[in-house]
Amino acid sequence: MSTLEIEQLSKSFGSQPILEQLQFHVKEGEFVSLLGPSGSGKSTIFHLIGGLYKPDYGSIRLNGNEISGQKGSISYMPQTPSLFPWRTILENVTLGVELFEKPDKEKAKKMLERAGLADYIDAYPHELSGGMRQRVAFIRSILSPQPFICLDEPFSALDEFTRLEMQKWLLSIWDEERPSVLFVTHNIEEAIFLSDRILVLGSKPAQVIKEFDIAFDRPRNGELTLTSEFLD
Ligand code: ADP
Ligand code: MG
Repeated sequence: MSTLEIEQLSKSFGSQPILEQLQFHVKEGEFVSLLGPSGSGKSTIFHLIGGLYKPDYGSIRLNGNEISGQKGSISYMPQTPSLFPWRTILENVTLGVELFEKPDKEKAKKMLERAGLADYIDAYPHELSGGMRQRVAFIRSILSPQPFICLDEPFSALDEFTRLEMQKWLLSIWDEERPSVLFVTHNIEEAIFLSDRILVLGSKPAQVIKEFDIAFDRPRNGELTLTSEFLD
């Protein structure tokens, strides 16, 4: 079981209120996307959920337990992924798992191969492009055994073709393992393609100003075709 309940979440930086009384829930096994303009506070929400920032007010509950200010309760891919420069790519993807269990190196290698990184398994982060590093950070987050995954613009640095491949991969993982996913993107097509539900944030301070249920039955596993039903 993995549910997230955000209630009355408030955060200011200096005199600037970024989040004020923000409220939303993610149900067990649900895929929810957060859309909103740049600077609206999406990454700040993720920093709070990931325990990197403490809220000024309000609560963040995972499966009923308060997790604000606690790191390591969820799997979290930040918008600017930080890889350890002195560790190989394989070590970088398995490091997160090591906190919980002995990493399955073969599985990690297969994932790197699937992401087009077969030649970079023993390379170091500086040898990779930004898009490659983004895929490494994505694999690190999906390898983590936690059932709640937060992904902050995970595919933003990828070309359209690679992005589609990664989207299909994420959906196939979601189909098989059914984690709860909270996904930030600027790309409305991506949000429609992937999500059960979309929350649109307005800014200053951030509030959920619109909420869409994706009403149609989303096609599965690589048989994905984009539909415009939602936009009518
Ligand atoms: P988004 O991810 O939606 O683009 P962010 O959450 O990164 O937005 O930023 C929301 C606002 O909070 C911006 O105005 C940003 O400048 C400000 N902000 C974010 N982090 C900090 C920080 N550590 N200190 C001061 N201001 C911050
Ligand atoms: Mg951001």
